[in-house]
Amino acid sequence: MAEDMKTPLLSDSEGPADALPVCLTSPTVAILGSGDFSRSLAVRLVASGVRVVVGSRCVNRIPSGLFPDAVGLRNQEGAVSQAVCLVFMALFPEHYRSLLGLQSALAGKVLVDVSNAAEMNIHGTSNAERLAELFPDSQVVKGFNTVSTWELQTGAHDGSRQVLICSNSTEGKKKVVQLARQMGFHPVDMGGLSAARKIEAAPLRLFPSWSGPVVVTFLLFLFFYGYGFLRGILLPFLAQGHNAFYRLTLDLVNESLPAVALVTLALVYFPGLFAAWLQLWRGTKYRRFPSWLDNWLQRRKQLGLLSFLCAALHGVYSLCLPLRRITLHRTVNTAYRQVNAGAEELWDELGVWRSELYLSCGVLGLGVLSLLAITSLPSVGNTLNWREFTFVQSGLGYIALTLSIMHTLFFGWDFAFHIEAYPFYMPPSYLLAVALPCVVLLCRCVLLLPCILTRLTRIRRGWESKRNCPVLQHHHVVANEIP
Ligand code: NAP
Repeated sequence: MAEDMKTPLLSDSEGPADALPVCLTSPTVAILGSGDFSRSLAVRLVASGVRVVVGSRCVNRIPSGLFPDAVGLRNQEGAVSQAVCLVFMALFPEHYRSLLGLQSALAGKVLVDVSNAAEMNIHGTSNAERLAELFPDSQVVKGFNTVSTWELQTGAHDGSRQVLICSNSTEGKKKVVQLARQMGFHPVDMGGLSAARKIEAAPLRLFPSWSGPVVVTFLLFLFFYGYGFLRGILLPFLAQGHNAFYRLTLDLVNESLPAVALVTLALVYFPGLFAAWLQLWRGTKYRRFPSWLDNWLQRRKQLGLLSFLCAALHGVYSLCLPLRRITLHRTVNTAYRQVNAGAEELWDELGVWRSELYLSCGVLGLGVLSLLAITSLPSVGNTLNWREFTFVQSGLGYIALTLSIMHTLFFGWDFAFHIEAYPFYMPPSYLLAVALPCVVLLCRCVLLLPCILTRLTRIRRGWESKRNCPVLQHHHVVANEIP
């Protein structure tokens, strides 16, 4: 027992390094460059029990305390000579040439290129491939560029843990993968060095899958807002001098948002139906969809989330309506009119039912949409199996669409059949908004008819109609050729 107590629970500074799986002969990892990335990388490596030496052009210029005490500071040659295996190139690619003097010292070592592309869509050779050309005797591995300095320092607890890695050297890649794991990251093997250009451009991408859905949603909002402005504000003002410009900030926005939410939700389910009808018409699932349909299908999640955003905003705006001064004025004016008319009780049974029904459908629709939004989060979606995910996204999705349509129809009630609902021959915006969702729901119902659903299910399980099946046609030709 007394002997046990002499053994430290935490090993000394040499201890963790002895246990390192990376490069057992000399676990020291070198980082060339003493900038922001180098500092964060060094902090993370030291925290992971790796010995680190930083190579700088001018060691004296590094302020004391910038790097952890455990990090050795050397000139570039000194750092490279201490690292047997791995050297991180934490400098900008335009400065790689300044290291050509170290070619022989770097020979046989793994050079980790952490640089990002300077701009999107650059063609030609990647930084990593250029580095490999400059140092042909070293093994170049691309990696860690998708990790920011902040993520490097907090990686194991927060932020993205994925580290994309590629290289033509299997050995080099293995070492970097091992080190990334030791640092608490999830290395993702992206293949050979030719993937480097894509990896280098990855940090520059700005919500690539969101641009289309955001533009569509914005255009829809502009359309409904502009339409409402023309129909409810500008034309009445020009024709009757009726001033309703106060509606621009709240009323009109709240009128446009549910219309956008409804159409966007219909746009989530429309491409799936279109794809199903296309498969039925073609009699096969083995012919590719046109690229625009493919793109649309891949953006359904974003469209759904934007629809949820508009619906949620509509909910908040609607809750704010009674707080407005105009509501107070209207209530008092109605009360005055009622007193003047001698009426004691204002009760409109149908009106009450209408408002109860449309509010109830709206709240339920928003609730189901919230469920859809939550399950589209990767952390939640990953816990569902395929059937559960399909049930939520498709089954509950159509329920949300149905409830939203009912919310709109109850709101519209029978007003759509009154001539006053069409000032200047323009129908109300909710009538325009409900058209596409109704078509989507109808098409879905038709697809559920047993005769159609059976054929579609067979096609999706690999069955092909005779006119489309190349294998059957081949057999037919061969059979005809046999004398
Ligand atoms: P930085 O702060 O400007 O550091 C670059 C370092 O390069 C300098 O401190 C300098 O260190 C060294 N260097 C070596 N030769 C040089 C030369 N001829 N001229 C100028 N400097 C030279 O840049 P950084 O933010 O650390 O970025 C370094 C690399 O990491 C870049 O390729 C970048 O794309 C990549 N990266 C950065 C981040 C980030 O969040 N910052 C994230 C991912 C990837 P010495 O003076 O000590 O030699």
